[in-house]
Amino acid sequence: MIDGETSQVRQLLGKNRVGFIGLGNMGSHMAQNLIKNGHSLVVYDIYPEAVAPLEAAGALAARSPADVADNADRIITMLPSSPHVHQVFNADNGIFKTVRNGTILIDSSTIDPALTKDLSRIAEKKGAVFVDAPVSGGVTGARDQTLTFMVGCEESSFAKVKSLLEHMGKNIVHCGPTGMGEAAKICNNMLMAIGMIGVSEAMNLGLRLGLDPKVLAGIINTSSGRCWSSEIYNPVPGIKEGTPSCTNYQGGFASSLMAKDLGLAQSAATATMSPTPLGSLAHQIYRLMMSNGMGNKDFSSVYQFLQDGQVQGEKSPAK
Ligand code: NAD
Repeated sequence: MIDGETSQVRQLLGKNRVGFIGLGNMGSHMAQNLIKNGHSLVVYDIYPEAVAPLEAAGALAARSPADVADNADRIITMLPSSPHVHQVFNADNGIFKTVRNGTILIDSSTIDPALTKDLSRIAEKKGAVFVDAPVSGGVTGARDQTLTFMVGCEESSFAKVKSLLEHMGKNIVHCGPTGMGEAAKICNNMLMAIGMIGVSEAMNLGLRLGLDPKVLAGIINTSSGRCWSSEIYNPVPGIKEGTPSCTNYQGGFASSLMAKDLGLAQSAATATMSPTPLGSLAHQIYRLMMSNGMGNKDFSSVYQFLQDGQVQGEKSPAK
């Protein structure tokens, strides 16, 4: 139980309290935006360093996911991948241990749609509602409250979660029943990876041909090659301020997470017999980057990988 609260106080506060689990690159901003929009939060992360800034902003720190579920009637999870989400829900100190009747569970992590459906079935047995609501828009979208939420649930549940999601994002889209939010998300991310690799290839080629990177980016962004990766999140340092490429690819969306999403897309493609040759190649490229020690770098560092073939600072011998 959270320190210093009687159960009566908890009952009173818990009524409108929002739980938030997973305060990393994305979750930290999303939780801060909920506080800015007037919500009382109870938060949890395995790293105390991630909890401290939220506590400073007024959130209560819980001791476990079960503690969060005991103190909130809506819970958002923003965790790296399927095994983390599985653990946070099903472990001995997990959400399902204490979840209340009527609680709405919103998972914004990008995970396997099959796990989403399993969790939804367990939630239903406990009288709770599970909603998949993965996001697009990156860390800047999380910070600026402009995320797109891809929501999978019944129509009636969508009406209940929409206003809360609007306090973290701009486009809240109902994609269909449970699992359809995740389905939309993995399709989007497969395309985003292919686009980022394409922009990186074109920029690297242009630079080697002698073009000024800013001139080339300007041409692409007013021509038919323009896409999100060229315009908003250009992988070449110095083109777009505030992107991870300007800070040696720190923060942002880790290449290991992109490799995970591409793996989810490949599993889905296998299950549906869908040909995805570029998605498959993109998956291999991001796995190669992980093998080269680039898993923690933002996924736009594929530009650096194509340029150098290895991690910055360990340049290959002169050709
Ligand atoms: P992250 O690794 O920065 O944050 C995850 C947080 O979860 C960390 O703080 C970690 O300590 C915490 N955590 C891990 N296991 C936990 C556990 N058992 N209990 C409690 N906390 C735990 O990841 P992120 O970049 O914030 O991404 C989160 C999710 O959002 C991923 O599924 C990712 O694919 C997706 N996503 C990320 C981005 C992005 O740009 N970073 C964009 C869209 C979607």
